[in-house]
Amino acid sequence: MNICMIGTGYVGLVTGACLADFGMDVVCVDKDEAKIAALQRGHIPIYEPGLEEMVAKNERAGRLRFTTDLKSAIEDSLAIFIAVGTPPRPDGSPDLTFVRQVAKTIAVHMNGYKVVVTKSTVPTGTGKMIEEIVRKNDQRHDFSIVSNPEFLREGSAVSDFLRPDRIVIGASDPRAVEVMQEIYSPLYLLETPFVITDVASAELIKYASNGFLAVKISFINEIARLCELMGADVHDVAKGMGLDKRIGGKFLHPGPGFGGSCFPKDTAAAADLARQNGYTFRIIEATIEVNRETKARMIHKIEAAVGPLAGLTAAVLGLSFKPETDDIRESPAIAVVTDLSKAGASVRAFDPAAMENARAVLPQVHYATDAYDCAAGADFLVIATEWNQFRALDFTRLTRAMKSRTLIDLRNVYEPDAMRDAGWTYTGVGRG
Ligand code: NAD
Repeated sequence: MNICMIGTGYVGLVTGACLADFGMDVVCVDKDEAKIAALQRGHIPIYEPGLEEMVAKNERAGRLRFTTDLKSAIEDSLAIFIAVGTPPRPDGSPDLTFVRQVAKTIAVHMNGYKVVVTKSTVPTGTGKMIEEIVRKNDQRHDFSIVSNPEFLREGSAVSDFLRPDRIVIGASDPRAVEVMQEIYSPLYLLETPFVITDVASAELIKYASNGFLAVKISFINEIARLCELMGADVHDVAKGMGLDKRIGGKFLHPGPGFGGSCFPKDTAAAADLARQNGYTFRIIEATIEVNRETKARMIHKIEAAVGPLAGLTAAVLGLSFKPETDDIRESPAIAVVTDLSKAGASVRAFDPAAMENARAVLPQVHYATDAYDCAAGADFLVIATEWNQFRALDFTRLTRAMKSRTLIDLRNVYEPDAMRDAGWTYTGVGRG
């Protein structure tokens, strides 16, 4: 089956490559000519483990190609996936400009029956909007609308796509459900659960899922705050909670707040969606507020550990919003560096993949070649993102490199007692 993937970003590129791996003939389209030219040269524009091999393998097999020619990509395909960005507007509502543009372009180039699939995260009602745009601009051809939200996580996107917890298909037309089942048939054979529902419910499943996960993160961050006030250890509390199967241990790790391109945007969109429908989604509103406070509190935590920051040198490890990605969108680490600079500290930073992206927004930072170069001459060390390579740091080397043995561990990578025994002044999150 021929598939057209419109939008070749984190989601579109991974989805396109993985669907090609499922045996589909996929053409990935983007309006960003430089991105497509790079992909045609074999250069992967994002850092995502396993993606380069997946793209190369399927390109070699002739099942995956890249173009800016949307017209022929649409004409040649039965299923057209929309995977463009839906960035937040200042009021929290998602900007659907790209989705609208693409819907119109699909209508203009339709040459037969098409299944129009929304992969982008969009508010309930967007499927209906796309249907209206396509119908308005093409009255001759038959088409079906599908919502197929994506749940992959950056950093493990390829393996998440190949082994998802579920596939959600929202469609009212049985022909479209059949097409989607054929596309995902390798997962069907692996007994992946399929949730087949109407378009509106599928759209809401994505916001409900991300909203709930964000609630868990803000919840444990508030428990961490309580632990700090009362001398308890959040790791033990989280373990004791998480062993209850009704709660589960995942997403109970405290830290500097959630970031990335999804949770902040999707919680804001869920709150906005409720407001648009005359309802206040109080749990989500509170989750957003707790996250804002959590992010803002990190600089006070650092000040409490080292005193006034003006004139000090900070060494910050990690800039991406999570490990194994170069994505810095809404990264708490970026917020920490910005606050350190504002408070008058000089910042040295190191990240295994995100420094190129960070340079564009944090030009004042000195970018180091590794963790030890980063620590050279620093007054204190901050772990802002828990890349694996920061889990086994050589503290003897760090002691030699730094002016003082002070660690502010915003990801609770290290054990407070062991660090103190080693002569370090240690501050974690919610560790008594
Ligand atoms: P992204 O910014 O990395 O990629 C979007 C791509 O769409 C860009 O390359 C852009 O040039 C392209 N584009 C925009 N308008 C276009 C047009 N008219 N024609 C062709 N290409 C166009 O975004 P992303 O992170 O891949 O996210 C895409 C969608 O998937 C969003 O709605 C997001 O919320 C959702 N999502 C993202 C993730 C994630 O982890 N990043 C996970 C699940 C869902």
